[in-house]
Amino acid sequence: MSSEVSRIPRIGFGWDSHEFQTGVPLKIGGVTLPHHSGLAGHSDGDVLLHALTDALLGAVAAGDIGTYFPPTDPKWKGADSAVFVREALRLVSEAGYAVGNVDSTLILAAPKIGPHAAAIQKKVADLLGIEPTRVGIKAKTPEGMGTDHAAIAHVAVLLTEISWP
Ligand SMILES: [Zn+2]
Repeated sequence: MSSEVSRIPRIGFGWDSHEFQTGVPLKIGGVTLPHHSGLAGHSDGDVLLHALTDALLGAVAAGDIGTYFPPTDPKWKGADSAVFVREALRLVSEAGYAVGNVDSTLILAAPKIGPHAAAIQKKVADLLGIEPTRVGIKAKTPEGMGTDHAAIAHVAVLLTEISWP
């Protein structure tokens, strides 16, 4: 492969949604947020980390989160979603890439993400081993779209080729 071809960066995109459920903690981006309900579903229901995992896997054409961590496997019930991000990151690195930057948009009626955005940004950056200035955290409310019962996350990543000395 010519060096010109191999130097082309790769993009990835991930999307996820989970329904709110009372009695479970709300985890978004690895941060536990104070709220009367959390997100039900796969593992700890961390919608942002699941979308991030899919974006990382997609960027290196390595399938999706369900390929490696099937939701039907009881092993992943209540699991810390950071595990999925770390595995996706390992596959990205194995493919010869590193994370350039990440951008995300959350869509949820409540709680407000603004007061927690810096904490989420720091946590996601730490997980990826990059500077917080390379992680975009944005949030919107559904505005009458009928999805107030759920949280939705969109994540885009850019990967750059690992350069060897
Ligand atoms: Zn999910």
